[in-house]
This record gives sequence, C-alpha cells and structure tokens, in this order.
Amino acid sequence: ETTSAPNFIRNQISEEIEAGRQGKIVTRFPPEPNGFLHIGHAKSICLNFGLAEQFGGDCHLRFDDTNPAKEEQAYIDAIKEDVSWLGYEWAGDVRFASDYFDTLYEWAQHLIREGKAYVDDLSPEEMREYRGTLTEAGTPSPYRERGVEENLDLLERMRTGEFAEGEKVLRAKIDMAAPNINLRDPILYRIRHASHHQTGDTWKIYPSYDFTHGQSDALEGVTHSVCTLEFEDHRPLYEWFLDNLPVPAKPRQIEFARLNLNYTLTSKRKLKLLVDENIVDGWDDPRLPTLSGMRRRGYTPASIRKFCEMIGVTRADGGLVDIAMLYHAIRSDLEDNAPRAMCVLKPLKVVLTNVAEDFAETYRVAGHPAREDMGVREIPFSRELYIDRDDFMEEPPKKFFRLAPGKEVRLRNSYVIRCDEVIKDEAGEVSELRCSVDFDTLGKNPEGRKVKGVIHWVSAAQAVPMEVRLYDNLFTVEQPDKDKDADFLEHLNPESLTVVQAMGEPSLADAAPESRFQFERVGYFCADRHACRDGKLVFNRTVGLKDGWAK
Ligand code: ATP
Ligand code: MG
Ligand code: MG
Repeated sequence: ETTSAPNFIRNQISEEIEAGRQGKIVTRFPPEPNGFLHIGHAKSICLNFGLAEQFGGDCHLRFDDTNPAKEEQAYIDAIKEDVSWLGYEWAGDVRFASDYFDTLYEWAQHLIREGKAYVDDLSPEEMREYRGTLTEAGTPSPYRERGVEENLDLLERMRTGEFAEGEKVLRAKIDMAAPNINLRDPILYRIRHASHHQTGDTWKIYPSYDFTHGQSDALEGVTHSVCTLEFEDHRPLYEWFLDNLPVPAKPRQIEFARLNLNYTLTSKRKLKLLVDENIVDGWDDPRLPTLSGMRRRGYTPASIRKFCEMIGVTRADGGLVDIAMLYHAIRSDLEDNAPRAMCVLKPLKVVLTNVAEDFAETYRVAGHPAREDMGVREIPFSRELYIDRDDFMEEPPKKFFRLAPGKEVRLRNSYVIRCDEVIKDEAGEVSELRCSVDFDTLGKNPEGRKVKGVIHWVSAAQAVPMEVRLYDNLFTVEQPDKDKDADFLEHLNPESLTVVQAMGEPSLADAAPESRFQFERVGYFCADRHACRDGKLVFNRTVGLKDGWAK
C-alpha cells in the first residue's frame, strides 16, 4: 500500500557488498545523553539499526558523552528504553565515548609529540578573532610554536585540574589558512571542572566532539559512520584524525538530510525548554515529538518504523515533511490492529420511553470487523443511554443524518430510534432526549422508509466513566522556529489539549495501560501509560479517523 522511498546509503552499501568491497558492516547510533530522543532521532535509529539488520551487521548504541555539564543518567536510561521500545537491539553492551577517554588522552599526547597539537592560552574571544572568516585566513596563535615538552607538561596539568576553566585549551596544529574553518587548529580538549556521570571526578578536561567521534568509531570497528548534513564540513577533520593517529580502523563518514516535520520542533534544546518551563507535562507529554511522548500518545513502534521507511534517506535536504504522513502511518497500523469500542466523548442522556425499566439485552459484537482473533465484546442495551451531543441538532441543516426532533437514526449494532421530545435545563441547554424505539429494526431495515444515519451510544447503567485527552498540534504554524530571532513560544497552540469526561462501553473497563482502541466514529485512542491505573480510566487520542494524506 505504501512504497518505501529511496535510501541512498542502503543502495551504496548494497553495491559495496555486491562488488566484494565490503565485509561485515558495523554502524552506530550515537546520541548525546542531554535530553530525550525525538522523531528526528528515530530516522537515524531506523537507518543505522536497519542497515545492520538488513546486511547482517552490527549496530552499536554509543553515548556521545563528552559534555558532562548537560548530561544525566536519567537521559541515558530513557534513551535505552526508547531504542528498545522501537524494537532494536544493540550489539554488545551499551558503549560510551567516555570509555575511550584514556586512549584519546594518549592520542592527544601522540599528536603533541608529532608536532601536531599545542596548548593555547588565548581566551575564547581572542581565539574567535584569530580564527578569521570565510573570506579571510586566520592568524596563528602566539602559543602555536610551544615545544613538545612544554605542551605535554601543560596538558598533564590541565588534566589534573591545575588551571581554571577557559584558561587553556589543547588544539590540533593543522592550517590557520585552510578554506574549511574546521581545519583552522580545532580544539581537542577543554578544561571543565565538572563531575561526569560515567567517569566521576577523574577528568578535569574533556575532549571535543570532533576529537572524539571518529576515533570512537575507529576503536569500535564502525564501517559506516552515518550522520546528518551539518557534519559535512567536519568530514575533512574526521579524516585528518584518522590519518594522523594510530587508529585500528578507518571508518567512513556519510551524511544524510535530517528530518524536519511541520507543526513540530525536532531540537532537544527547544524541547527541553518546553519541559523546563512547564509548558508541557514532562518529556513524555503526548503532544511532544519525543519517542516517549509518542509512545504515550499511542504510536506503535511499527508505525514509527514504517514512517521512517516512507520518508526515505537522501543527501539533499528535503525540506519539511508533512506530519500527516506520520498520522497516516499510525492510522493504517491501528486500522488493522486496534480492537473497536464505542465511547461517547460528550454524553447526552437519551431515555427510551417505550423500553421497560427492567428491559435488558446484550449484543455480541466483533472486537474487530476483520480480525476473528480479537473475539467478541458484549454490549448491553437498556432504557437509558448516552449518545454524543454532536450527534444531535435541534435545528439541523438539510444533510444532517443524525438525530433531530422528529427524526430517526440507527443506534450502531441496535435499533432505530426516533426523537420525540427535547428536555432543557434552566439555562436553556439540552439536557435529555426522550426517544422511542422501533423494535422491528434489529438487524433489519425499517418498514417503508430509509434511515441513513448510524450513531454510537452506550447504555447509561453499565457505561464506564473515563477521562479522555484530546490532543492537537502543539504549534499553530508549520515551522515554529523558522524565524531565528523570534520566540517560537509565540506560536504555541492554546488548544493543544482538551480534556473531556466521556462514557465508554463496559468492555473498556479493564483496559490495560497502553492498550489501543478505535473508538468507532471518533478516532484512535490509547490508555495512558501512567494515569490509567487503579480503576481510573484515562485515554489519549492518538489520531482522528480521517486520513487527509493521499497515499
Ligand atoms: P538535537 O539537535 O535535537 O540536540 P543532536 O543531533 O544534537 O539533536 P544527538 O544526540 O547528537 O542529537 O543525535 C544522535 C544522532 O541522531 C546523531 O547522529 C544525529 O545526527 C541524529 N539526529 C538528530 N536529529 C536528527 C534529525 N532531525 N533527523 C535525523 N537524524 C537526527
Ligand atoms: Mg549531536
Ligand atoms: Mg544537540
């Protein structure tokens, strides 16, 4: 039904293997534990783990943990849980870039001895000035020609904490006139007097991303180091380290276009702000595009993997992906796999005046119209029901085929009823409908007339009360962070969450946390992972029924 989009990295590896140029492949997913994973990370996870799966290789999970100030164990735990939830298994133990700190330090000393690194005392501001611009070559630092012994001694004293943060850095000695600014003596180590979640207080210096990433890949035998396009300009540096250090392997960096979704933010930093400012209810708020938020919202791992397959992998930036594609992916999964139930979101009481007080019958209805394995559910019928307020109109327009004064409608799986009387409360609001049943309509059309509309309902006595959370996009514009100077919070959707007190059919009474349903005529819903407990029913709307996205 949905075809997979092109994936140039998969094609490339496939060619390499066919040509006999590539043995077992090794990939890695390298998150920094400074926040929760989002749908953009899912693209990278599905790509890296997917390649390993497809070509019989390994994919490592490696935490890129070189910035202790922003990192936390809680993020490590959440990231591991999300990757597992998506259905992937990393090869071997979880790895950490910090596992390689000793080796990286020796390699820094190696570069110093080779005359390819030096300790620099310039301040960050001075360093920026000396670096030059795209059109102007940089100026060498006055500390660039320090001798090997002095550099080794200073680096060691940086490591043991003798200097303050920002006082000194270790830089590679490459080329201050290189057209690629990343090669103008990039920083290898910074002083940070911070405690690290893995290494504690052992280190007072931490390696830069560039000095860590490729070497970690090499140490792990990664063959294809897949990353997003912002790192394209770093590739010459990635290769410079591999060429100038005694690394055991030569991985290759391949860049692809990152995922950007409309009405959404895919930046950990901005998502963290929403969490820290209490604009949302934690990292797993169902409105967030975090994997844990999407999980709580009711997304299945299969739907996220399918979405990632649908969007494909290209080198060229494909612009904004329509969130409707994501909705399509979950909807088609749940259409096939979610059992059905009736639930009335805005209950309006209906009294069936020609049904006796003690009348009771039960319908046995398929759990899913096409899935016998989902069994049957029992739906009780009685004198008092709830229907949805939106299925009644006092003064209906012409094409309104639901309930109205004097009009008939079919109750799904049950009889045709007619609305005889509308009862209002003191405020003039409709509070109850008096209706009558045509008993000759169970499983058959009424005599001599057509009844077009079918509405859902629940029997009042057996209905189970529940809280239902209706979610909408968190932002009202397609690209909330488009204008870099403006505050993306200005585009928050004030109606991103609506909570209603609903009434569900009794089969929902035992809904387990995270169980998913199609509420007929309404949408797809998932029992909240946290709140749906101890007899309390709380459902989150995953997505509506209508598919706006053309297949
Ligand atoms: P953010 O900007 O949200 O902080 P990041 O790239 O800094 O993301 P990392 O933890 O470094 O976050 O990301 C781990 C991996 O996920 C990287 O290889 C990165 O390229 C990839 N990744 C992050 N965001 C996206 C995205 N939107 N689309 C595809 N891949 C992504
Ligand atoms: Mg990153
Ligand atoms: Mg980041």
